[in-house]
Amino acid sequence: MEVLKRSNRFYDTRRFGQPQIRLRHRKGIGLKSPSYVLRCGCCDQKLEIFYSDDGLEIGGVNGTLEDWREILLPVLLIERRGCQLIDLAAKTKNPANKTVRRKGGSRSAPETSRTSLAAGSRR
Ligand SMILES: [Zn+2]
Repeated sequence: MEVLKRSNRFYDTRRFGQPQIRLRHRKGIGLKSPSYVLRCGCCDQKLEIFYSDDGLEIGGVNGTLEDWREILLPVLLIERRGCQLIDLAAKTKNPANKTVRRKGGSRSAPETSRTSLAAGSRR
């Protein structure tokens, strides 16, 4: 797993328009799992997330990955369909993507998909 790093400036609103969560990573030592310490972008509130291959402990609450996924994916506006993860936030922000994605099957080539759609409607 790649360790996420951030600048950790206090009250940094540049990326999200709201204070970005400050983040620190801790390596696992002995029996202690590695963790992320998340600190609020605007105050001293913090939360530690310990992670391993089979589970997470978030703020002192232990659960399997599957348990956490069931709870957190809907809250993060991510829907699971089989093995696919669907970003519901992207869908609602830009409804035009809906059709493009269905036809083209790829986010990276919207121009191609739009062209083929237009060609199809001319027939
Ligand atoms: Zn805060």
